[in-house]
This record gives sequence, structure tokens and C-alpha cells, in this order.
Amino acid sequence: MIQLKDLSKSYDHPVLKSVSFSFPDQGIIALKGPSGSGKTTLLRILAGLEKPDGGSVSGLAGKKISVAFQEGRLLPFMTLLDNLLLVRDKAEEDREEAIKLLRFFRLEHAADQKPGTLSGGEKCRAALARSLYYGGDVFLWDEPTRELDADNRTLVREAMDRLKSKALFIVSTHDPDLETDGELTL
Ligand code: ADP
Ligand code: MG
Repeated sequence: MIQLKDLSKSYDHPVLKSVSFSFPDQGIIALKGPSGSGKTTLLRILAGLEKPDGGSVSGLAGKKISVAFQEGRLLPFMTLLDNLLLVRDKAEEDREEAIKLLRFFRLEHAADQKPGTLSGGEKCRAALARSLYYGGDVFLWDEPTRELDADNRTLVREAMDRLKSKALFIVSTHDPDLETDGELTL
């Protein structure tokens, strides 16, 4: 179980103020709160990219973490398919699985295109496909439904639903239709 205890983080002003929360091992937990409330900061702390000023995070040891960043972060000089294949060791590469994930996210037509030619929504879905292809025990998805229309938001919910009995999704989102197992409001 991942636990936050009195977690705090300030930049030029306090962002996380003594946040305590217990995440289940599986399921979907939504991070809520207005823009600037610290959702991305918390996800970055969970990903080990940022250090809290105070408090603790426990329960992450031995867990494989997969991140889909708010801004996608696809490598611009590689095709979508190669962006996926890159995140696994050569020995564990599975082209079919990568293509299946791109197909699931309605990106098969773009497999051989570079991110620069894609729409914001397509890039966002590609980043989610890459995160799923990487795999993990904990998926940290930052605003995965931003820039997506209703149909594509359904896809994102479906992707989480398929895996939620085996993995934990910590998702910052404003999607009112996402059924979650709990919420943490910042
Ligand atoms: P959210 O994701 O909820 O919109 P963020 O976690 O991105 O919020 O940001 C929370 C606050 O922390 C904002 O005021 C933001 O400007 C500030 N902040 C985030 N990262 C940094 C940073 N690296 N340096 C300075 N301020 C930051
Ligand atoms: Mg954010």
C-alpha cells in the first residue's frame, strides 16, 4: 500500500500542505483540484522526480511505475511505433503488442508518423499507449483525457478498467464520467 504522510512541498509558495492518504494496491484513484493545486507536483514526487520538503511516501519499494506526463513527452524524431518500442529492452520488445495498443487508441494509421504531425489528442493517446506498453504496478497518468473528445475519453476509461484489478492508476483528471475507487482532492 502506498502511503503519504504529512507530505509537504513548497516552491515560492506552499503547494502541498500536509497531505496524508493511503492508496489501495489496485484500482483507480483520481487526483482532483483546480489548476495549480499540486496534482502534477504530487505525481512527480510519486515518480521520484521531485523531493518533498516534509513528510514521507512509503510503499513504493519494488513497484514498477509507469508515467504518462501531462505534456506527452514523445520523442519528436521517432515514429509513434518506435516511441513505444523504445521503452522496453530489445529482448522484451513485442511489436504486435505495441501495434495492438496503438490500434486500441485509434492510432494505427499514425504508427509510422512522427509526433510533430499529430494532433494534441493523438499525442496524448500515444503517451498513454506507451505507458501501457511499458507496463507497471502503478500508472501515474497526468490529465490523460485532456484534449480528448467524448469517444476517446471512453477509450481511456476502458483502458483503465481492463487493468484496474491488477494495477493502481493514480490519475489527475476532470473527467466527471470516470468511475474511481477513491479521490484525493488537493
Ligand atoms: P496542477 O498540476 O494541479 O495544475 P502543479 O503541481 O503543476 O499543479 O503546480 C502547483 C504549483 O506549483 C503551481 O503554482 C506551480 O506554478 C508551482 N510549481 C510547480 N512546479 C514548479 C517548479 N518546478 N518551480 C516553481 N514552481 C513550481
Ligand atoms: Mg498539472
